[in-house]
Amino acid sequence: MHKDTPYDVIIIGSGPGGYTAAIYASRGNLKTLEFTGSEPGGQLMITSEIENFPGFRDGIQGPELMKQMEEQAKKFGTQIIHALAEKVDFTKKILEIVSEGKTYYAKTCIISTGARAQWLGIVSEIRLKGRGISACATCDGFFFKNKDIIVVGGGDTAMEEALYLTKFVQSIKILVRKDASRASAIMQKRANENPKIEFLFNTEVKEFLGKDKLEGVKIINNKTNEIKDVKIEGAFIAIGHKPNTEIFQGQIELDLNGYIVRKIHSQTSDERVFVAGDVHDHRYRQAVTAAGYGCEAAIDALKYLDERKEL
Ligand SMILES: Cc1cc2nc3c(=O)[nH]c(=O)nc-3n(C[C@H](O)[C@H](O)[C@H](O)COP(=O)(O)OP(=O)(O)OC[C@H]3O[C@@H](n4cnc5c(N)ncnc54)[C@H](O)[C@@H]3O)c2cc1C
Repeated sequence: MHKDTPYDVIIIGSGPGGYTAAIYASRGNLKTLEFTGSEPGGQLMITSEIENFPGFRDGIQGPELMKQMEEQAKKFGTQIIHALAEKVDFTKKILEIVSEGKTYYAKTCIISTGARAQWLGIVSEIRLKGRGISACATCDGFFFKNKDIIVVGGGDTAMEEALYLTKFVQSIKILVRKDASRASAIMQKRANENPKIEFLFNTEVKEFLGKDKLEGVKIINNKTNEIKDVKIEGAFIAIGHKPNTEIFQGQIELDLNGYIVRKIHSQTSDERVFVAGDVHDHRYRQAVTAAGYGCEAAIDALKYLDERKEL
């Protein structure tokens, strides 16, 4: 693609945010290119049943939902490249995006590169992820009705996840690595007052137990070195998320945690660059909200080009 004939919009990312932006942009007659990155379909590709995406009364498998979104975007003319955007240069008059040694040019860009949950990184966790171990209470809490579970983490996210889960589960142990939680006073108070929640301080996961599904956890007290096995059927890891924004550093404004800052509507600190989904949204982190933000970003890009008579 030549500099003189740039794309109207290049979308970076192919989760629900990216694909929805692609559907709206290409259906709105924008010349649209989308980079899928190394995880075509995004986070939902690693899950099974999605029960809370509207329109599917009996649920839908994550990969199937994402395949449908990709095909819908292609139907309206989105050109899809299965590669990472490795570098961007937003300082030029025409935006530049580099992938696999080639430079692509665009009048506007929509960033929808998502965020990744932080995991403990132990082998048994990898084996049992999605088989009792989760990083999203809103997504998976429903599957743990009347079960004994643990939540790992000591910040506000861990308290929020635990409090949400009390609606379903029988009991929750919150494992906090330090001798105190660093959650806000109000969140701690709520957790303390909830009879289903018990705190275990100075406590870390040594190993998750179970072959095909989670059956227990081996925990260690990092002060006394005491080790014990606890029977559980669920574990929620709530130690934070990391937005995929490394390539945008120095190009647009990011907040202290690396999330993209929205200025007016979905516009970023560069008026030609728009953002959608978990890469700016650390509050809702849902497929349907990411899709909603994707719709917003495409409409904003379209309006931006229209107002400047660049179409
Ligand atoms: C196990 C699990 C289960 C979940 N279950 C549910 C559920 O039941 N219901 C629900 O609503 N939500 C669920 N979620 C949350 C939901 O998946 C996310 O909120 C949603 O996927 C966010 O969409 P997104 O478009 O912002 O980004 P993501 O889905 O995170 O996708 C990011 C995309 O960006 C791409 N990318 C990253 N960097 C680059 C780059 N440099 N160049 C090009 N592309 C790049 C990636 O390849 C990927 O395609 C679940 C999440 C997980 C992890």
